[in-house]
Order: sequence, then C-alpha cells, then structure tokens
Amino acid sequence: MTALDSHVLVLNRLWQPVNTCTARRAVTLVFLGHAHIVHRDEANNYSTHDALSWIDLTAENHQHATQPKLRSARHQFAVPEIIVLSIYDRLPKTEVKFTRHNVFLRDSFTCQYCDRLFDPSDLNLDHVIPRDKGGKTSWENVVASCIRCNSKKANKMPHEARMFPRTAPRAPRWRPFHASLQHTEPRNSWRDFIEVADGTVEISA
Ligand SMILES: [Zn+2]
Repeated sequence: MTALDSHVLVLNRLWQPVNTCTARRAVTLVFLGHAHIVHRDEANNYSTHDALSWIDLTAENHQHATQPKLRSARHQFAVPEIIVLSIYDRLPKTEVKFTRHNVFLRDSFTCQYCDRLFDPSDLNLDHVIPRDKGGKTSWENVVASCIRCNSKKANKMPHEARMFPRTAPRAPRWRPFHASLQHTEPRNSWRDFIEVADGTVEISA
C-alpha cells in the first residue's frame, strides 16, 4: 500500500460527508478542478486549496514534515486527508437519479473500458448491451466511456467487442456512507465531519 492508496474523506459542497476515496482519486479530482483540498491549521481554522495553493502550502512547510509526500515530475506535496467536491451540492438521497452526470460521478469520471480518467466533456454514456439488442437505459446497463472506446465498441455486445466494464454497473448507493467506511480507519482530521461511536461511523447531520 502506497500513500496514493490511503483513504480520503469526501465532502459535498455543504461540507457533508458523502464518501471516501483513495488519495490517488482525490488528487486527480483536485487537479481536474472538481474538488478542493480541505486543510485544518494548528489554530483549527479551515482553508480550502486548489492544486497549486496546496503545493505551495505543503511543499516546504515543515508542519507537514511527518505527512507522507506525493511526488509528481515537478512537484512534491502532502497527501490530502479531506477533499470537498465542487461538482454537486445536495445531500445524496437513497434513490440516486439516473442522469448522465450521476453516471459519470458513479464511475469517477473514468472510462469503464480503458480505465482512464477524463473530463466530463470527453465522456459518453455507453450501453453495455446495445439498445438495438434489447439493452436498457438504466444504471445496470450504462457506463461512462471515453469517445474512443465508445466508438470502438459501437453497437457490439461486450463479448463481440471483447470490451467489458471494469466494474459491473449498478445503481450507486451514496447514502450508506457507513458501509464505505467499515474497513477504513477514520483519521483524526475527519472527526469534525463524522461521528465515531462504538466502532460505527455515522453522518453528523
Ligand atoms: Zn476509454
């Protein structure tokens, strides 16, 4: 396990916890401008940072000397522990509406065939079982796909195209935040956002 696999708490725009993700995903979302990093300083003041201001803050800052560092070709910066999304602002409901945007969110803006991350404008919806072969437009049959993979698969069945979604598509369950934390050790920095009691984690409303 590397620093990029560590867990990051994901807040929505109302600063309500909605999920956790890997640091790898969090950093990517921040670099794409879909999220900001949340930082709490020694005086317990919160600040939010985009990629550049985070690099500025943590590259040389000895306050972060003990935190694991990530290195890109040109930069070194601390691994984030909390991010706040700038892309949706409602507390997720039990039933997540089937929309193009929500499919992209469910699939983390990642093409389900080539496993690469894209800007939403470079993503399409792909019917795993094509519509002309009876495939429905539903959570279970629609995945995010980059334009290249989408046109490569065209209206072929997965086995004909030899293209299978990396994750079997299903309706997202954003609400049971508890479940996604069951195997995650909550970090101290998360405790302002979640309640940890008796080994279970609950959303603090
Ligand atoms: Zn692709």
